[in-house]
Amino acid sequence: MTGRAASKGARARLRSHFLANIGRKMDSEELRVVAGNISEWARRVRELRTEEGYQILTHNDLSELKPGEYILMSPKPIPAFERAISKETRAFVLDRNGFTCQQCGAVAGEPHPYDPSRKTRLQIGHVIDKTQGGSDQPSNLRALCSVCNEGVANLTLDRPSLTKLLVQVRRATASDQLEVLKWLKTKFPKD
Ligand SMILES: [Zn+2]
Repeated sequence: MTGRAASKGARARLRSHFLANIGRKMDSEELRVVAGNISEWARRVRELRTEEGYQILTHNDLSELKPGEYILMSPKPIPAFERAISKETRAFVLDRNGFTCQQCGAVAGEPHPYDPSRKTRLQIGHVIDKTQGGSDQPSNLRALCSVCNEGVANLTLDRPSLTKLLVQVRRATASDQLEVLKWLKTKFPKD
């Protein structure tokens, strides 16, 4: 077997192992054995993330993981279109959206509001879905956190209308209303 074929085989074994163990954390020892005891097992795991788009999380993404631990939360890889987006376009869209998920409001790097054990990692999604004729132009792109992009929160987290939002704020406790005010002041310091 050539080196290239061997590395493809290792990557394929790691891929099936991750897919068979969704949601279970694995350590480097286990992954090294799965990869066939090759020293480049970590590079193959990285390729599954960068070349195939699998969202394999590490301690950089999830506070409950120790260094050297990995977990795949969803069998759905990030679509090829997103991996093809240039660094410049990605930076432009994230900056325009204030590094905030446009669906649930989670902020990049902060604990996710619906799963505080996860750090919010932003991805790029479409405003109008491709299946409905949306394009890959920056005007049709938006920041979405990995949780929303996985579709977990899709049904309940539509952007609220102003009327709905005001009703919710008026119904909240005074202390929660003060928290909202504090947050608005930090968001709009000049207004
Ligand atoms: Zn989100």
